[in-house]
Amino acid sequence: MVGREVAAADHPSKEVREVLKRLVADGWKLRSEGHWGTLYCPCEEHCTSIRVGGTPKNPGQEARRVQRRAKLCPLPPDDPRAALRGGNVK
Ligand SMILES: [Zn+2]
Repeated sequence: MVGREVAAADHPSKEVREVLKRLVADGWKLRSEGHWGTLYCPCEEHCTSIRVGGTPKNPGQEARRVQRRAKLCPLPPDDPRAALRGGNVK
């Protein structure tokens, strides 16, 4: 985690923004790194990081990719934050 913190609202694509907002509300940290930013998971091990492109060719696809990767972080099932992940994106 080296970059400055960025806000989910700063992402140029609405679809990606919505996913980022959910994850940040869920405890994920968003840093300004790489092409646009990197998400860091909220668990103690910080097991998962996700690169987020700033100008995805297909924003819907990018949003789903981020969403899918976010599920790799194994929050315990009884963690209230676990219920917030995933949302309704398939
Ligand atoms: Zn994790």
